[in-house]
Amino acid sequence: MAINGATELYGIMGNPVSHSLSPAMHNSAFAALGLNKAYLPFVVQDVAQAMTGFRALGIKGVSVTIPHKQAVMQYLDSIDPVAEKIGAVNTLLIDQGAIHGANTDWLGANRALSEKIPLKGASVLLLGAGGSARAIGFGLLEAGASITIASRTPEKGQGLAALLGCPWLPLADAAGATGNILVNATSLGMAPQQEQLPIVSEALINFKVVMDIVYAPLETRLLQAAKQAGCQTIDGLAMLLYQGAAQFELWTGRQAPVAVMRQSLLTSLGYNP
Ligand code: NDP
Repeated sequence: MAINGATELYGIMGNPVSHSLSPAMHNSAFAALGLNKAYLPFVVQDVAQAMTGFRALGIKGVSVTIPHKQAVMQYLDSIDPVAEKIGAVNTLLIDQGAIHGANTDWLGANRALSEKIPLKGASVLLLGAGGSARAIGFGLLEAGASITIASRTPEKGQGLAALLGCPWLPLADAAGATGNILVNATSLGMAPQQEQLPIVSEALINFKVVMDIVYAPLETRLLQAAKQAGCQTIDGLAMLLYQGAAQFELWTGRQAPVAVMRQSLLTSLGYNP
């Protein structure tokens, strides 16, 4: 990509960010559309100073990752209503010094699920009560689905369920639940816990669609078991890709080149030569 005096800058702020797949994904998308834009990693410790820096340098857009998704909220000039409900921002849109915060994690999850099944009226068993479960849960409510949360730590799980206005189950009892959709938003199944299932495989027959948001490995044991049970499956790349596509669309106003972005993610994850 040729950088010149008119190149517009974007990036990702977090700590650490060296593992992030977003620079490769977004730069491949900018290049595919011939946009004079570049996307850089920003290792940020002091969020307030970083926000001042973004304004001062005319940075156009920033992805926000761990541990800053909540901390950035106090420095925004405006916020998307769903991001406000979720209580986390993963996207900054900066226009003439004014910073708008959004959350595209839920958009990514909803788009991935909607490719397989209508969300309005669907019943979803959501495993986990961490940051991703929170974004996915609020997103599913936006789409008109009904949710049950199942998770390990009761206080955390019950807290999220109260916010979402939905029932909670201990993770150990999740096998008794039924629904149209099962979403794994725990880190069980992720390397080095890749042998672990978040729910017993016998329970999977109760669901039409199973989405695992873990993407390393891409085909988790849960997804293998779900395929054997006859479920439609969605791997963790879909949410990752579509949250990035939603960021791209917010920043550029252009339709994201999702095939190019998916290829970039696969290459970064080592699935292509
Ligand atoms: P958090 O740390 O916020 O939440 C992790 C959740 O997993 C918690 O609910 C936690 O339980 C549960 N958990 C962890 N270990 C166990 C265990 N041994 N037994 C039972 N439950 C367990 O993480 P995130 O929500 O940010 O991420 C979760 C997963 O999603 C990660 O694997 C991450 O890589 C992946 N991810 C994928 C994305 C995508 O776009 N595809 C985006 C973001 C994350 P408890 O409630 O008890 O703490």
